[in-house]
Amino acid sequence: MTDRKAQLAANLAQVEERIASACAAAGREREEVTLIVVTKTYPASDVRILHQLGVRHVAENRDQDAAPKATACADLSLTWHFVGQLQTNKVRSVTGYADVVQSVDRAKLVTALSAAAVRGERELGCLIQVALDAESGERGERGGVAPDGVEELAAAIESAPALRLDGLMTVAPLAGEYAGRQRAAFDRLMEISSRLRAGHPAANMVSAGMSGDLEDAVAAGATHVRVGTAVLGVRPRLG
Ligand SMILES: *Cc1c(COP(=O)(O)O)cnc(C)c1O
Repeated sequence: MTDRKAQLAANLAQVEERIASACAAAGREREEVTLIVVTKTYPASDVRILHQLGVRHVAENRDQDAAPKATACADLSLTWHFVGQLQTNKVRSVTGYADVVQSVDRAKLVTALSAAAVRGERELGCLIQVALDAESGERGERGGVAPDGVEELAAAIESAPALRLDGLMTVAPLAGEYAGRQRAAFDRLMEISSRLRAGHPAANMVSAGMSGDLEDAVAAGATHVRVGTAVLGVRPRLG
């Protein structure tokens, strides 16, 4: 094993242990939670190693980094998640490799994603990103729609050709009433998810929790955690 592979294997084992413990503590089956490794800023060679180590879900947040990486790893069976703020001029590129876009937060983006998916002849999974700290009608600083805008977007996604409504995503807010209260934030996301699922039963994905707060997310009921730093190391720059 190379040094890098040994390092990633050790880190993955630690994250796996954390997820397993959090599931046990919450009385959940380990299979209920899927690990998505956020590979942003790290090279395609790391994605390749992660695949060898059994990782099947990876996430990226910037198209400029993600597109060449996905191309370099096109031979691997991986599910690619796009989790960053997405400008409509990047939609066509993102739709070329992403299986799921987790950061859908406005109607204009739904229209653009649908057009690109139709044109690329593929079905694209969509998660609505919820900004728990956004006021009604506004968007969050790091993207996301305010909780009261979720239903309207869900209806738009569901009626858009080539898009599939998979569920919700959030990033725990750094400011506002949920700052430093990850568990409360994720509980709130689960409430919004329950309401969404009442009308859209198949939209049962709940993507929440990162390196620092995955236990809170698993305790609240998240189905997917997005872990970068704890697997790959501290990123060399903001990403
Ligand atoms: C970078 C990122 C993560 C992973 O964060 P870590 O703290 O490195 O685990 C998760 N979700 C999103 C949306 C991100 O941009």
